[in-house]
Amino acid sequence: MSTEDPAEVVRTLRRGFDSGLTKPLAWRRAQLVALRRLLLDGGAELERALALDLGKSSAEAQVSEIGVVRAEVDHALRHMRRWARSTRVPVPVAVAPASARVVPEPLGVVLVIGPWNYPVQLILAPLVGALAAGNAVVLKPSEVAPATSAALARLVGHHLDPRGVTVVEGDAGTTTELLSQRLDHVFFTGGGAVARIVARAAAENLTPVTLELGGKSPVWIDDTVDVEAAARRLAWGKFMNAGQTCVAPDYVLATPPVASRLTAALAVAVTAFYGLDPAASPDYGRIVADRHVDRLASLLEGEHAAVGGTVDRGTRYVAPTVVDGARLDSPLLAEEIFGPILPIVHVADLDEAIRVVRSREKPLALYVFSSSREVERRFLRETSSGAVGVGVPSAHLLVPGLPFGGVGASGTGAYHGKRSFDTFTHEKAVLRKPLSPDTIALAYPPFTPRREGI
Ligand code: NAD
Repeated sequence: MSTEDPAEVVRTLRRGFDSGLTKPLAWRRAQLVALRRLLLDGGAELERALALDLGKSSAEAQVSEIGVVRAEVDHALRHMRRWARSTRVPVPVAVAPASARVVPEPLGVVLVIGPWNYPVQLILAPLVGALAAGNAVVLKPSEVAPATSAALARLVGHHLDPRGVTVVEGDAGTTTELLSQRLDHVFFTGGGAVARIVARAAAENLTPVTLELGGKSPVWIDDTVDVEAAARRLAWGKFMNAGQTCVAPDYVLATPPVASRLTAALAVAVTAFYGLDPAASPDYGRIVADRHVDRLASLLEGEHAAVGGTVDRGTRYVAPTVVDGARLDSPLLAEEIFGPILPIVHVADLDEAIRVVRSREKPLALYVFSSSREVERRFLRETSSGAVGVGVPSAHLLVPGLPFGGVGASGTGAYHGKRSFDTFTHEKAVLRKPLSPDTIALAYPPFTPRREGI
């Protein structure tokens, strides 16, 4: 449980917000600058915590966690003055003379609930948008990455204004208590099961939610591309953070000849990246908790691993693994894998691949490796997903102009760049109309001539 009382934390932040503390651009800017300082001065502490929780290398921690937040901070600092400006909109003749504008206003006290897989990025990147938009913020990091949760609590407490930002550590019970407070927005990143609990709790207070979820992101690869180059990209996106990435390629659809070339090329890529024994590589991560190691081990039961396949519970190690020829009804194809196992499903052709994608929940991302623009167009036209990456997995989340989020079962709402600001902003409609001339007079009743005496 938390050492902080969630109700008291929310009350303090509510006082901060109601006092007007968080609204001036100067305060927002100062907090973002302080956050940049936190990333710089606290970088080593965060790296140590990430190594403890996930065996993340320093380089990966910098590129996929700290660097992503820094880029968001810099982007917001560059653009937030413009984002925060009100904008005029045209007034129809029927309402003229009048002026109309959209005034962005902060929502109030918002809650950000983070997962354990990128426990720094996925809690601090939403914070950037929430601060830029002028909100008071409660951060609830995942208890499954305890070292990172503790480091975030210490660093945020030290660097940011406690009247406007607080970390509450704790488990599901703490989150439940936070959710029972009156909040103005809940931003949740995690799995679909907990998302349902969060959405139900938020509904009690009519609190709007952003849900950043996961799903099974498919890959299509055909023989029009350089399979070795594609294998390197796939191995990078899949085996980074030991496969515990929401946008990681989850399964591949390919014809049998392409599948067998890809499997051979993935074996070469894995060795090039992590050596002959990835367990000894300082660049290969570990699974976050024993129960997830057990889950991944059971997914491999009865499957033939063409690459990898080793599991060591003692060190929470699961080797980079490829299962060529996985069946569509295999457990590997049921739930999101969220680990370093890549099944390749054989299909007859592109039509069958599209049918498989369409028959499942809408994924967070879909990846196409083909040099045919028509193939790319068909996936864009005929399937739905949070994002599409052509020739590269995961990298779309590094483009601040692209909304990052899911659709259907993979999520509701989006963030990054200006979308983060918009997510934590209410667009207030303001119309100003002079009392005279009274052009509304035509709309006043009575609408039929009034009889004498009534
Ligand atoms: P999770 O859903 O188990 O937990 C997420 C958060 O919810 C944690 O902070 C946890 O403390 C809290 N929580 C857990 N049980 C709760 C309960 N009963 N009531 C209230 N709060 C509760 O997710 P996870 O295992 O940390 O992360 C894995 C999932 O997150 C995967 O499905 C993955 O695809 C998804 N994910 C999505 C994104 C994205 O950006 N879309 C990013 C990373 C992970």
